[in-house]
Order: sequence, then C-alpha cells, then structure tokens
Amino acid sequence: MTQETESRQRRPPSGYGSRRPDGGRPQRPGGRPVRRFGGPGRNRVCEFCAEKVVVDYKDVGRLRRYLTEGGKIFGRRQTGTCAKHQRRLTIALKRARYLALLPYVSRSEA
Ligand SMILES: [Zn+2]
Repeated sequence: MTQETESRQRRPPSGYGSRRPDGGRPQRPGGRPVRRFGGPGRNRVCEFCAEKVVVDYKDVGRLRRYLTEGGKIFGRRQTGTCAKHQRRLTIALKRARYLALLPYVSRSEA
C-alpha cells in the first residue's frame, strides 16, 4: 500500500526581476520653454533719468507714449522706466486722464 500524500507545491512564476524594455524612465518631449524678449520698449534706460526731465502731467505728448493703444499704462518691464519715475508717471497719467488730456480707454469704433 502506498500512501499518496497530496503535497503539490505549486510555485508561482517569480515576478521579480522583470526587465523594463527601455530603461523605465519616461522621457519628456521638449525642454524648457523658450522665452522671447521683445516688446514695445527695448530701451533699458529710463527716459526720464536719461533726459533729466520731470514727469509732468501736462506733457501729454510724452505721457501718451506710455499708454497702450487701448489706453492702458505700460508696465515698467516694457518701457524701462525706473521705479521712481514709473511711480510718478502713473500719477501723472491718472491726473492727465482726469483732466481729459489722455483717455481712460480708447477703442477704435468703426
Ligand atoms: Zn528714472
């Protein structure tokens, strides 16, 4: 008589050591975004410092250059105006607006 011991040892296929086909690390297409610099004003020097003029709200011809087509005030980054003069410029521009020398908003109404 033979005793049959049911000791079936099933070995699962080892999942260890599975190879990754291509290094496993996903590569991102494209690097860092290209930043272009260019805009309304490329001059680095503050105009008021360079010409040594005082910001005047009556100087409409000059102030107008610091307004966009839509009547907004250009930022310092665009015009290159220094902090001191940009501060005075915005005040002068707003004063000029109040006196209707400059527009609050200007749109081309066809
Ligand atoms: Zn300045």
